[in-house]
Amino acid sequence: MIFMDKIFEPKLKWNSSDDDMMDDFYRHAMKNCSEFQLLSNFSLILNLSPELLNFINHDGKIRLIINLESYLTLKDILEFDLFNSEKFLADFLLEMIKTNTFELKLLKILGCILTKKIESNPQLEIKIAIPKRISEKPPSIIGIFHYENGEKTSISGGPNVPNSDNSLENFTAYTSWGNESEYNVINQSKFSNLWDDNSRNLNAYRLPDIVENYLIDLYSDSVQDLKTISENFEKDDGSISQVTEFEFFDHQKDAIKNWISNDMCGLFEMATGTGKTITSFGCMSHIQKQYDRTVTVIACPYKHLVEQWKTEFEKFNSKVGVDGKITFDKTITCNGDYPKWKVQFNNLAFDFNETPLGGKTPRLNQIIIFITHDTLASPDFISRLEKLANTKKFLIIDEVHEITENRSSKVLLDDYEFRLGLSATPNRHMDEDGTQILKNYFHSSKCFGTDASDEKVCKNCSKEFIPYSLNLKKAIHDLHVLCEYEYHPHYVELTSEEMSIYNDLTMQIARLEQKRKKGIKLSKKESYPYLARANLIANAENKDSKLEEILNIEFKNHLQRTLIYCTNTRRSESDIYDLSQLERVKKILFSHKIKSDSVTHLDLTKLRLEIISELEGGMLDCITAVGCLDQGVDIPSVENAIIMASTGNPKQYIQRRGRILRKSKLTNKQKAFIYDILVAPPLPELDEELRNIERKIFAKELLRHKEFAEISNNEEEATSKMKTIARKFNLDFDRLDRDYIKNELL
Ligand SMILES: [Zn+2]
Repeated sequence: MIFMDKIFEPKLKWNSSDDDMMDDFYRHAMKNCSEFQLLSNFSLILNLSPELLNFINHDGKIRLIINLESYLTLKDILEFDLFNSEKFLADFLLEMIKTNTFELKLLKILGCILTKKIESNPQLEIKIAIPKRISEKPPSIIGIFHYENGEKTSISGGPNVPNSDNSLENFTAYTSWGNESEYNVINQSKFSNLWDDNSRNLNAYRLPDIVENYLIDLYSDSVQDLKTISENFEKDDGSISQVTEFEFFDHQKDAIKNWISNDMCGLFEMATGTGKTITSFGCMSHIQKQYDRTVTVIACPYKHLVEQWKTEFEKFNSKVGVDGKITFDKTITCNGDYPKWKVQFNNLAFDFNETPLGGKTPRLNQIIIFITHDTLASPDFISRLEKLANTKKFLIIDEVHEITENRSSKVLLDDYEFRLGLSATPNRHMDEDGTQILKNYFHSSKCFGTDASDEKVCKNCSKEFIPYSLNLKKAIHDLHVLCEYEYHPHYVELTSEEMSIYNDLTMQIARLEQKRKKGIKLSKKESYPYLARANLIANAENKDSKLEEILNIEFKNHLQRTLIYCTNTRRSESDIYDLSQLERVKKILFSHKIKSDSVTHLDLTKLRLEIISELEGGMLDCITAVGCLDQGVDIPSVENAIIMASTGNPKQYIQRRGRILRKSKLTNKQKAFIYDILVAPPLPELDEELRNIERKIFAKELLRHKEFAEISNNEEEATSKMKTIARKFNLDFDRLDRDYIKNELL
């Protein structure tokens, strides 16, 4: 046969632990193929979607049957049987798409494929398969590749399929020119029967319009975005670039090892960007290997962080080798964005606790719960969690320092046998009592009486409080897991008008301080001068011209992959024509022809992530951020940060710096740049006591700059600017540290 050499000759057995299914099988099998038919679960279809898009772009035709079996509970199946309506299916699918950890990018690609047509016939048709109530286990995967010369390759896998095992992804491949070509005929007839809804095991439905439109809308909302996605995917030869297999960094392996030998309990203090999420997945995978039934609860302070963990989780699981994969039967997200979570949890608990008639184990044995700190502490959640029986429970709390002393008793339950608390923020920024509680709880689930104090290990049980810690300096300069950076502080003065307001406010504050000294509590109204003065500093006029100067001189007006942190407030709250700093910055950027968009804490999570991906894709040069993007959100490709305003909270500084020190494979980022625009306030001339207070405030601020500079690549240059300022305030810069401020400044 003359064309045979062009067609891929697959081996018989394929399994995901030894084979790279995407690279070694699907990509080759689809080449020269004109029509592709596939029954599989939704995850595999999504993971294939970049390949499918490529195939469609080369005029291919696709029929997909999405098997919902792995997403359905028994109750769902019964209800489908009863109602069997398009609406019921539509609701279920939308819910599934929105609540599971599917990657948005891949959903968009699927939406894109749905828009493709040849001579007004859609190139992709989708049906949905649901198991019949009483049936044998259906095949988990059937695929048929039709080649232009009339030959076929087919695959099948799953229970009751000859020559196959039970894993969802494993299959056997047959060719129409090979020895076992009869299986090709069988596979084709199975698929066709399913498609025509004549199958014994599964009912087939058409994809509801509302779901199709939802996917198409996801895509249309971000056509530009997707263009870069597919460009990134596509290599020169038109094939899609392969995703490199995941490997833990050595420091992450160390952390996991230490935690395991600490009886799977403890806190990790890992600098932002060193992969505490990934490391936690390593811990999860270890626990799952040991126990058949587990419940893992992952709690984050904010909803957008919950979404980010879910995305990371999906990514991790698609990249990691089969040994490290986290197997799960179901995930659930519990927070206000998912109003149905309580009902879903009840169903899940039923399937987790009850063994179905004739079965040996419950339908669900491994579940993962994504949750916010708020919901974690709610009675609604706690009562439901307690009902999950005969299982090991594992609690992971991200940004664990945010768990307040008040809340700790509701959240830190004895029920969790395995514990992991994550924080980038070093000990000293947590309050002492809070830190103590966290250390006591997380170091062991068996040890109760202990006094953590400053010891490294518990006196009682000799377990470590913090089995692994990695500070920023080590992460950057020793382990090279984070980017090196340059720190450029810029000090500006107040204008004379601002100066007189500032002095006036300072006098008012002095009077209030006197009152406070006498033990009188200030009313909310009285704290106005403090706020007004902080706003004046944040909003100082000379910062605007400094920004212009930085854009002109440092960037030659070519900004890219930049975050600008600013405030949303106006200089004068009474003057409605006065522009806020954010508006002024936008104007400046516009006049320099820099494409920017802004993100505030009011924006929906989805929109924020959208804007971030536009920055990564290069459609935007810059994002202006107000009151968000401090914590947790990953934007590794960001190279520059310009800080126009900050709260003065050290935690915010540390988080912001961590934000931009991530390495990016996408852009091959080598170094990051931080421009920090700061106000050097005037010292009050007359009042000695006031002078000392102000001096101390500024010394604290300057210490932070010093700490930033100390691990930067341009330490000398950065500190020389600070030394000049320090002299003005009569501070000994070389000796400036916490003790100096505490002991030597009045
Ligand atoms: Zn102990």
